[in-house]
Amino acid sequence: MSEINTALAMNDLLEDMRLWAQSYGFQQLGISDINLVNAEKSLSKWLDAGFHGDMNYMERHGSKRSRPEELVSGTVRVITVRMDYWPEPAAEPWAVLENDQQGFISRYALGRDYHKLIRKRLSKLAHKIEKAVGEMGFRVFCDSAPVMEKALAEKSGLGWVGKHSNILNREHGSYFFLGEIYTDLPLPVTQKTSEHCGSCTACIDICPTQAIVAPYQVDGRRCISYLTIELRGSIPVEFRSMMGNRIYGCDDCQLICPWNKFAQATVESDYLPRHGLDLPQLIDLFAWTEQEFLSRLEGSPIRRIGYECWLRNIAVALGNATASSDIITALRARLNHHSELVQEHVQWALDQHGQGREKSENG
Ligand code: SF4
Repeated sequence: MSEINTALAMNDLLEDMRLWAQSYGFQQLGISDINLVNAEKSLSKWLDAGFHGDMNYMERHGSKRSRPEELVSGTVRVITVRMDYWPEPAAEPWAVLENDQQGFISRYALGRDYHKLIRKRLSKLAHKIEKAVGEMGFRVFCDSAPVMEKALAEKSGLGWVGKHSNILNREHGSYFFLGEIYTDLPLPVTQKTSEHCGSCTACIDICPTQAIVAPYQVDGRRCISYLTIELRGSIPVEFRSMMGNRIYGCDDCQLICPWNKFAQATVESDYLPRHGLDLPQLIDLFAWTEQEFLSRLEGSPIRRIGYECWLRNIAVALGNATASSDIITALRARLNHHSELVQEHVQWALDQHGQGREKSENG
């Protein structure tokens, strides 16, 4: 562990770390201690309510998530960073949401996957710190392990947890990724910021599935991000119409948030839209073969849901779209797909257009 132990030297180090973080493309850096008692209580209530749905790993990880020293022995501090991802240029999101012939994909997923990029940069940052202080214990994370990234980001001053449960920042809105370095270096902690949601309820009011059941409480089972990305099985029928044309994630609670008028465009070209995913025609996406899905989405976070769930999600959006002969033809072409999951969602979509089983089977 480091020989650096005076408060002055630690503060100088913190200033250097901020500059190094910026040079690696992070817009902000903070330091948190590892006391997550309050967050642990909230997590436990959330799990008890069953809001995690099929995300059983949330329970399985137990207290490793809320006690950093159980995940990485010797950890005394967590270095937190954020990286903006708002893509520009990209199609205007509300216009896409209003056009039911197009598919809406969450802004964070339009380009390349962020996990590897952020972990690589975090690793460089950690090695840079190690070069300055001598040997230190560390591990880097970006959505890759049971880490309470929002609680740590909030404690370290990157922003506050909004009523939609995302981290937001007065100067930068909420369109950013988070990353963490667990370390045994006893760095000075940075200050938590104040909360600024006030009496606003815009995110609660706009949520298409009323997933924000109370301020700061999201029922994951109702959330469109969960339904389109995390859920592997059948999407409950009660939510399908409410999903509209959202085929991968949902940004409504962030798009409506007044603080996002301060969001900054990303400087990372990797996060810019690829393959026209910011403005895709549903029918075109639905026609992709599995090979096209795999090759076009190489390096994209979307690939992880797999081809079956991709077709499942698009089928729901096509069921919600204004009917046309092209849509009916596209849906019928998938009615005999080998996956029962796809078949069932395609049949539901046809039903929405008055094309019940009998009609579709008779051509
Ligand atoms: S929309 Fe309003 S309530 Fe929701 S996170 Fe933003 S400021 Fe807070």
